[in-house]
Amino acid sequence: MQCPYCGQADSRVVDTRATGDGIRRRRECQACRKRFTTYEQISEALLIVKRDGRREPFDRHKLLQGVRIACAKRPIAMTEIERIVSQIEEHLFGLGRAEVSSNAIGQLVLEKLKELDSLAYIRFAIVYMAMEDVETLQQEIQRLLAEPK
Ligand SMILES: [Zn+2]
Repeated sequence: MQCPYCGQADSRVVDTRATGDGIRRRRECQACRKRFTTYEQISEALLIVKRDGRREPFDRHKLLQGVRIACAKRPIAMTEIERIVSQIEEHLFGLGRAEVSSNAIGQLVLEKLKELDSLAYIRFAIVYMAMEDVETLQQEIQRLLAEPK
């Protein structure tokens, strides 16, 4: 997405909102740091395929909420959570696909949380990944318990 101020193609998404007929994105130019807004029609927007097969447009706020809940009462700054969500969002849109499964997004969140905070990671795994990967979860809990305090 080209910056309307300096023409650089390198921009970072800072916010995404679904509007009635599309997706509105706030972007920050990585060269001049100015912010601008872009609109995408729903047909160009990324669809999330849920476990039951239903599809819904990607919702940054929903993702942010999920990560926030997992990180509740952990020593994790809101800016850190925002950063994780932005990275995941950029990754997803960078795939250039029309649809991504909710499970794939959950895996991305888990990867990020694993580096950040073991307890937040386990919470997210329990809530969002449900029974899908119990073995990994058990290994992770064992690893956590074995860690010296
Ligand atoms: Zn610029």
